[in-house]
Amino acid sequence: MSKPVVAIVGRPNVGKSTLFNVLAGERISIVKDTPGVTRDRIYADVTWLDYHFTMIDTGGIEPDSKDIILSQMREQAEIAIATADVIIFLTDVRQGLQDSDSKVADMLRRSGKPVVLVVNKVDSFEKFMPDVYEFYNLGIGDPYPISASSMLGLGDMLDEVVKNFPEYNKDEAEDERPKVAIIGKPNVGKSSLINKLAQEDRVIVSDIAGTTRDAIDTDIRYNGKEYVFIDTAGLRRKNKIKEEIERYSIIRAVTAVERADVCIIVIDATEGVTEQDAKIAGIAHERGKGIIIAVNKWDAIEKDDKTIYRHTEKIRQILSFMPYAEILFISAKSGQRLNKLFDMIDLVIENNSMRVATGVLNEIVAEAVAMQQPPSDKGKRLKIYYTTQVAVKPPTFVIFVNDKELMHFSYTRYLENRIRDTFGFRGTALKFIIRERK
Ligand code: GDP
Ligand code: GDP
Repeated sequence: MSKPVVAIVGRPNVGKSTLFNVLAGERISIVKDTPGVTRDRIYADVTWLDYHFTMIDTGGIEPDSKDIILSQMREQAEIAIATADVIIFLTDVRQGLQDSDSKVADMLRRSGKPVVLVVNKVDSFEKFMPDVYEFYNLGIGDPYPISASSMLGLGDMLDEVVKNFPEYNKDEAEDERPKVAIIGKPNVGKSSLINKLAQEDRVIVSDIAGTTRDAIDTDIRYNGKEYVFIDTAGLRRKNKIKEEIERYSIIRAVTAVERADVCIIVIDATEGVTEQDAKIAGIAHERGKGIIIAVNKWDAIEKDDKTIYRHTEKIRQILSFMPYAEILFISAKSGQRLNKLFDMIDLVIENNSMRVATGVLNEIVAEAVAMQQPPSDKGKRLKIYYTTQVAVKPPTFVIFVNDKELMHFSYTRYLENRIRDTFGFRGTALKFIIRERK
């Protein structure tokens, strides 16, 4: 079951970033060597009681005139409606109820999405409560007073948010068809790829049932097997602001990746791999999905016998945090290697949910340890007692050691490489948890 998505929408300066950061707190899960995501927190994982959800901040740049504020808010709301399960509509008791708030509230109400109306900067309930009642006029339910900066009222607000999460969907959970997310920057050819696959296999493009989100899923049959492709191209932005388009493509990627078994990261060969590609790839990496890098528009570049090599080198360099990713050079236009893409999807999904036997695993680790001594510090040497696989999607291993401090990142990487040499695991991240056993 994929995690629910919660979006925050609101005027500039009402406290969206503050609330976001308070909720994300230390629980924000960011892999240190994933680029981009730490700098601008567009999304974060949040845990509240037994609930886990992904929070997205739809707000972007600071607009300066009233007209722009409203049109920006409409854009935000549109993104939230398209991607979120629950929307937090954030207002500010000190700015009071504004005309743009009412307009956006109308839009949210019409969407039918669950909306939690939150009034921020209620730093003292005694002093500000009378002003909170004014927000009933928005007609989107009870206002929840909070103070994001003093962390007041957050519990009640979150209770209301999780109450609105979609019911556990049995059909979706039992759907065994591979889910493939096509992610990437705008204009790399995501829609072209899905269209080509759908057209070649003459299968119906269907609006999905069973999800509360607006994603368009495409069922595609290949070799008698059905796959569900999750399109992230979605809403075409008329908006020309580059930062907004990028933010939006990241939000789409986050919500699609959440539901996927495998992610195809589409890169434009004519442009080469960029930092923006790395940001998007980082999302799939962090969430431990199967990964295929599809270098598209391969038809459009001049090639010699070194071209593939040069592209591969560059990708490995920019996407150095995912050396395990599969790379395929394709053309959505001509259809080149699209059949190979399906073989790769199958392989990567299989590897992402592969389990290895504990006996063999420990043999491999013992052999690796014998070949390269574990690190030591101040006369104390790392001892590895036992290794076991505890989960799949991604394959997750617990290594029991005498002293966690002695386990260097580079030695974990070394063990990972030995495990990969033996078992394959191509196209999937592996996760390692180091535990002390006294
Ligand atoms: P955004 O533009 O909606 O993301 O708003 P920010 O999170 O950047 O906050 C705008 C301003 O409001 C900042 O100066 C914050 O410190 C302040 N702010 C945020 N939350 C609160 C709050 O609960 N009480 C008060 N008094 N100020 C707050
Ligand atoms: P999206 O924004 O990622 O969905 O990208 P589109 O599918 O809309 O494609 C963007 C542009 O790239 C369009 O003009 C496509 O015709 C073009 N394009 C897509 N795939 C290919 C390809 O394989 N080869 C070439 N030459 N052009 C492509």
